[in-house]
Amino acid sequence: MMTAQEALTRLKEGNQRYVDGKCSTVISQEQRNQLTADQNPFAIILGCSDSRVPAEIVFDQGLGDLFVIRVAGNIVAPSQVGSVEFAAASYDCAVVVVLGHTGCGAVKATINALKNPHQAPSSNLMSIVNRVRPSVEVLMHTELKDDEEKLCRHAVRSNIFASVNQLRHGSAVMEALIEQGKLIVVGAEYSLETGKVEFFDF
Ligand SMILES: [Zn+2]
Repeated sequence: MMTAQEALTRLKEGNQRYVDGKCSTVISQEQRNQLTADQNPFAIILGCSDSRVPAEIVFDQGLGDLFVIRVAGNIVAPSQVGSVEFAAASYDCAVVVVLGHTGCGAVKATINALKNPHQAPSSNLMSIVNRVRPSVEVLMHTELKDDEEKLCRHAVRSNIFASVNQLRHGSAVMEALIEQGKLIVVGAEYSLETGKVEFFDF
């Protein structure tokens, strides 16, 4: 089994190939054949649904490499915790990456909802906004509230941090795996501008 550090190195190297325009992933029938009976991805990614941030592509990984959960705003709700738990318990994954990104539409929608409380989005969209809200709300009480771009930048990071925290403490299963040193949860941010994924230490 790959260690968490080895898994992170593989992701970082893949992202570097992607940034350099040297992606090496080609998917063949032979690989599909090898994967029909089983899978054993080496990392779990909780990312945003944004069409510009497909996890396999930005990390230059192939079929069977990543167990990916994508949801607008890379939020953590019970079904996301369940998906991560399932993968962590079933496969040799030592790392979970919460992958947020610059210019996230879900974060922007949350800022808008907080600024215009009378124009509430649909209840379905509100279920996402409400999960992002705590990360944004605290920033709205600082000087950042007057600088939309800066506010969004900080809110994206604070939302990534919130999801990392929620996964770390989201369930007894996750806490036990982390306690036993079998799993780490890290945050990362994809830059729409450069394609680079920056990993955070928190
Ligand atoms: Zn997004």
